[in-house]
Amino acid sequence: QVKNTGRNALCFFDPGMLAIIEARANLENDLRRGISESQFELYYQLQVTDNGTPVGAEALIRWHHPLRGMVMPAEFISLAEETNLILPMGQWVLEQACKQLAEWQATPETADLQLSVNVSARQFRQAEFVEHVRATLRASGARASLLKLELTESLVLDNVDDTVEKMHALKSLGVRFSMDDFGTGHSSLAYLTRLPLDQLKIDQSFVHNIGLQATDSMIIQTIIGMGNNLGLEVLAEGVETEAQRAFLAAHGCHLCQGYLFGRPQPVDAFNGGLISEEITA
Ligand code: C2E
Ligand code: MG
Ligand code: MG
Ligand code: MG
Repeated sequence: QVKNTGRNALCFFDPGMLAIIEARANLENDLRRGISESQFELYYQLQVTDNGTPVGAEALIRWHHPLRGMVMPAEFISLAEETNLILPMGQWVLEQACKQLAEWQATPETADLQLSVNVSARQFRQAEFVEHVRATLRASGARASLLKLELTESLVLDNVDDTVEKMHALKSLGVRFSMDDFGTGHSSLAYLTRLPLDQLKIDQSFVHNIGLQATDSMIIQTIIGMGNNLGLEVLAEGVETEAQRAFLAAHGCHLCQGYLFGRPQPVDAFNGGLISEEITA
C-alpha cells in the first residue's frame, strides 16, 4: 500500500476505497441492465384535499432488483444522474406516467386525477426535454393539464434563464409545475416570481416537526402565506398524523400527501383504494 507520500498523496489499493468503487461499478452495471430489462415500476401515492377527496397522485419509481429485491430511489437516483442513465430512466418514467394518465382519463371516476412526476436536473437540462414531453404526451393521448412536473430549488437555480424558458414552453402545452421539497433549498422570492409555477410542495421535514419545533411550524405558515400571495397551490408532503393535517388545514394548506392518506402503491392497489374509498365515502 502507498500512503502518506506527501501532499499529492494517492492512496492506491486502499481496500475500503476499492470496495466503494467496486460497489458503485456493480450498481452502475445493474442499473444499466435494469433499464434494458425493464426492472422498474412506478408506484403511486395519493394526494387529497383536507376533507380527504382524491385530487391526484405522485409517481415514485421503484426498482425490482433480481437479487436485492425492491430498491428505493434514494439508493440509485444520484448514481443514475452521474452516469446519465437518468436520461433513459426519466424518459421511461414520463412515458409510463403519461400512459397511466391516459388510462385514468378514460375512466369517469378517475378522469380528473392529476399526476406529479419528478424530473431530475440532467433530464430537464437536455436541449430536447420540451420536445420529449410534447411527443410523449401526444403519443399517450393524456391531457397535458393533468401532468405536473416536480422541480427542485437546486435544479431551478442552477440555470434560471434556461429553466424559465423551458417552463414557459411547457406551460404553453398546458403542463403544470410544482416546486418539490420547498423550503430546503435557497430560492429567493425574486426567482420565485419569475417562474411560472402552479404549486409549492412543503418539504416533509417541516411537516414532521409540526408541534415539535416552533420554528418549523412558523416556516410552514410562512410558506403557506407566500404561496397564497403568489396565487399558488400549496401541498404538504409527508403528512402522517391527524394533528399535522389539522394544523395544515387550520393554516390554509388544503392539499396533502402522506402515509395518513396512503402509501405509495403499485397501480392496481392504488386504483383499488380509490374505488373502495368511493364506496365507503
Ligand atoms: P420526493 O419527490 O420528495 O418524494 C417524496 C418521498 O417521501 C417519497 O420517497 C415518498 O415515498 C415519501 N413519503 C411519502 N409520504 C410519506 C410520509 O408520510 N412519511 C414519510 N416518512 N415519507 C413519505 P421515495 O419514493 O423513496 O422517493 C424519494 C425521492 O426519490 C423522491 O423524493 C424524489 O426526489 C426521488 N424520486 C422518486 N421517483 C423518482 C423518479 O421517477 N424520477 C426522479 N428523477 N426522482 C425520483
Ligand atoms: Mg416529488
Ligand atoms: Mg418532495
Ligand atoms: Mg423529498
